[in-house]
Amino acid sequence: MKPLWRDIYPWIGGAVFNLDSVDSLLRHTVAAIADTYASDCAIWVGLESHAAATPFLYTTAGLSTELAAGETLAAAHPDSLTGSSISQFHLKDLPDWLREQQENPQIATLSQGDLIIPVVSRTRRKSSPLDAGQDVRSLPLVIQLRRREQSLTTASLGHTPLTNAPSSEPWHGWQAEEVESLEVVASQLGLAYSALYWRHWLEQSRRQAALVGRIAHLLNSSLNSDEIVERIVAELGQGFQCDRCILVNLRVNPAIVMATWDHPHRRLELFQHHRMEATLWQAVIDLFLQDGASYLTIARSELEPDSEALLDWLNQMEAASALLIPLFVQSDFLGTVCLLSYQQERIYSVDELQTVRQVADHAAIALTNAQHYQSLWHRQEALRLQNTSLQQEVIRDELTQLMNRRSLERELAQLSSKALWTCETPFSVVMCDIDYFKLVNDTYGHRIGDEILQNLALRLRQQLRRDTPAYRYGGEEFVIILPETILNRAVTVAERLRYAIRSTPIKTSAGLVEVTASFGVAQQDPNRDNHAWDVLQRSDQALYEAKRQGRDRVKAS
Ligand code: GH3
Ligand code: MG
Ligand code: MG
Repeated sequence: MKPLWRDIYPWIGGAVFNLDSVDSLLRHTVAAIADTYASDCAIWVGLESHAAATPFLYTTAGLSTELAAGETLAAAHPDSLTGSSISQFHLKDLPDWLREQQENPQIATLSQGDLIIPVVSRTRRKSSPLDAGQDVRSLPLVIQLRRREQSLTTASLGHTPLTNAPSSEPWHGWQAEEVESLEVVASQLGLAYSALYWRHWLEQSRRQAALVGRIAHLLNSSLNSDEIVERIVAELGQGFQCDRCILVNLRVNPAIVMATWDHPHRRLELFQHHRMEATLWQAVIDLFLQDGASYLTIARSELEPDSEALLDWLNQMEAASALLIPLFVQSDFLGTVCLLSYQQERIYSVDELQTVRQVADHAAIALTNAQHYQSLWHRQEALRLQNTSLQQEVIRDELTQLMNRRSLERELAQLSSKALWTCETPFSVVMCDIDYFKLVNDTYGHRIGDEILQNLALRLRQQLRRDTPAYRYGGEEFVIILPETILNRAVTVAERLRYAIRSTPIKTSAGLVEVTASFGVAQQDPNRDNHAWDVLQRSDQALYEAKRQGRDRVKAS
């Protein structure tokens, strides 16, 4: 007679050959065993104490209802909702008999007649890279089989009952051949599981390393915090295929969502503002800040009855589960990265948690750098503005915003330098003095006098080219230096200025005030003058002459 394991082997061999997922291998194997041995079947997975993944259970419907009643099962994995008759569950707790198997794996039967077949493998564990390692027995899987009532007799027909079992009722009707055949299935399954599990693990590690690498690269290349947070949520959301990934600033009330990534194929409603009230987030904040939690997984089916605040949070978020990682910037708590799943509860493996943590750490460093950079930039900008205004104060007259007397002295000194003094085209100096300004002050007051000075300065500037500055020489005296300008031209400029002042009364807060000014003009003459001061003095003399002749006129030296 053909051994029963031959009916199952094609499923197992095919899964390895096709490099199927572990999930697919276990689903098919559970179904095939249940079918072949006319039983309900369950496979307990991830039982090795050092296994990275949390334990799972694959089972046919008949066993799952009973196991759920015993509260061993936590959450149905998303894939179990695809209509398959095989369900996958996340385990809340291990039953006692399974703990005994972990201690001492052996074929056994449970009181209700379930046959238990452990899948034992040997792994070499090293304590250091140089260590040759030692073989250790580990228990990655356990198969649990329950004979269906109606199949008891038919399935047992023609087989010799087991006799070597210690129990008084050996194997509850399981035949020795069946047990042997199941042992073969168990060892095939163990090999296939290890091969696919490690392949999957390597692939996942590679993807996660690539994700961390990409984030590290991005964060090193950007100093823009907006860009950093946008990219972090997008990379995490894509990398872990959650429904939504958000980065929340919890330092403010209401909290602020700094960046959001939504899964492109799941139509999600927009984030509601009421979800950001700080009271709602307080439980999360406390767990991070008071309890020092380095991450938080919140799943509806796993919440303890006393965690009302977290349940409320989950309800308000309308999520099935969430993973939250705290973010600290410059050792200050900023908020959290939050991966939300809406349809099914999502369980993250230890490896995945480590990756999210690594990304969050990178993000925190990048945000710290970006903040340093931004505050440095702001400080530099403030200094630059301060410097500019200081410089302006040094060279400008405060009241009229014309260049001040010190600037004029510097300019005269420069014009007198040897290189410029002998230039072919001479420069000219125009000196201007407001007529009877003392009278204006006496009539309208000093404040109005100031307004007139400001307005008159503006008129002078408007009449001159941008590169020809006017200087405030004294109280109501102004000087204009006209480079490469001969006397006639300079007189024309002075006439234009005189007209600009006298033609339109000046607007002040005391009304219109008519003002005139007198002008003295002199042209540089290298034969007469030794210094630009000499030219200035001659323009002053010409001004005196203009005053003497009746004011409101231009006189040339
Ligand atoms: P003249 O036509 O001979 O130049 O007559 P003047 O009154 O303008 O001559 P003077 O030089 O005697 O008077 C200058 C006046 O300008 C005296 C002073 O009160 C006034 N003055 C100087 N600086 C300022 C200032 O900054 N603000 C105001 N409001 N007045 C000023
Ligand atoms: Mg004067
Ligand atoms: Mg005057």
